[in-house]
Amino acid sequence: MISQRVDSITPSGSVMLAQKVIELRNQGRDIISLSVGEPDFKTPQEILNATKKALDKGETRYSLVHGIPQLREAITKKLWDENQLNVNPEQIVLSHGSKQTLYNIFQTILNPDDEVIIPVPYWVTFPESVKLAGGRPIFVDCPNLQLDPELIEKAITSKTKAIIVNSPNNPSGAVFSPESLKKLSEIVVKNNLILISDEAYERFTYEDLPHLSPASISEEVFQRTLTVHSFSKTYCMTGFRLGYVAGPDWLIKPMIKLQSHLTGNNAPFAQFGALEALQMDPGFFQDMKKIFDQRRKMSFEQYKNIFELEMPQGAFYLFGKMTDDLIKRFGDDEKLAHHILEKAGVALLPGNFFGKPLYLRLSFAASEQDLKEAARRIKEVL
Ligand code: PLP
Repeated sequence: MISQRVDSITPSGSVMLAQKVIELRNQGRDIISLSVGEPDFKTPQEILNATKKALDKGETRYSLVHGIPQLREAITKKLWDENQLNVNPEQIVLSHGSKQTLYNIFQTILNPDDEVIIPVPYWVTFPESVKLAGGRPIFVDCPNLQLDPELIEKAITSKTKAIIVNSPNNPSGAVFSPESLKKLSEIVVKNNLILISDEAYERFTYEDLPHLSPASISEEVFQRTLTVHSFSKTYCMTGFRLGYVAGPDWLIKPMIKLQSHLTGNNAPFAQFGALEALQMDPGFFQDMKKIFDQRRKMSFEQYKNIFELEMPQGAFYLFGKMTDDLIKRFGDDEKLAHHILEKAGVALLPGNFFGKPLYLRLSFAASEQDLKEAARRIKEVL
């Protein structure tokens, strides 16, 4: 009775683990969750005030499908200043989180059995939203958790429609080099494909590493690229559910048509909160990033003797490989994550969820105290 489309997708492993953590806490267990993908900071007060003000002013009705004009206008300035993208407000669509933006993209561009190349490791939602649109995810496992444009090119077939990249990367924390992104963009243009660039963690790069939006490389690349951004991580607005896509008219116009029959529009009062996020003092983010950087270094030191680890260059995750000894003793990452949850009361995500077995993802969007205590407990039970 259930559609083949929905039957074919797997539930989000991270959401299921979050439910398991709630269950264990309800049983009275003391669980440290290092599995979450959201900053542990409060949404800045200025954003809350602007949202409340908009509510009081009556911004509670249906509004424009692709977003309130003031916000799209402010986004064009942000994209120009920070990403060197020259777009107009009609080339932007806001949706309920960049998760929905990705859903909209695949629904808009894919026909049955069209292929989308997804470098491994990947964010859990990419393959499932491709499948929901009737497409086929094609995985390319790139060495050293980096982007390998040549390997990706080898996976192109007559059915390939798009390639998705995510830098800074969830789960690996890698920031792909400008050279590799330029190479990939050339391949996209040469093969007449669409590039989807998920830049949810764009502001989370460390050691002054630059973030490159591939759509800024040339007009030719812009014409084939959908750039996806989110308010969730940078501004601690995960619950506002606001993300957006910027791209050329031929791709954006059909996405607006699709959204007009899906959600209609985002809550206008939430969008006024997002407008304030773009206009407020950037000090809030700079302070948060400093703290994330300290945690990154501290947790790398804490965990480097437990897993095989590279220092992440971006996002807020450590992505560690199981040592040979751990493989011998536990078999795989799901069994190890289960053991650590049951015995140490620490929730980590198995790499298998991200297409990379024998790895574990640990979020350092947690207090220093929790990160240290979790490392102590994990060492004890291993
Ligand atoms: N893209 C990546 C790589 C993510 O990790 C996430 C969330 O974890 C998202 C997109 C979705 O964010 P949101 O839907 O909150 O904008």
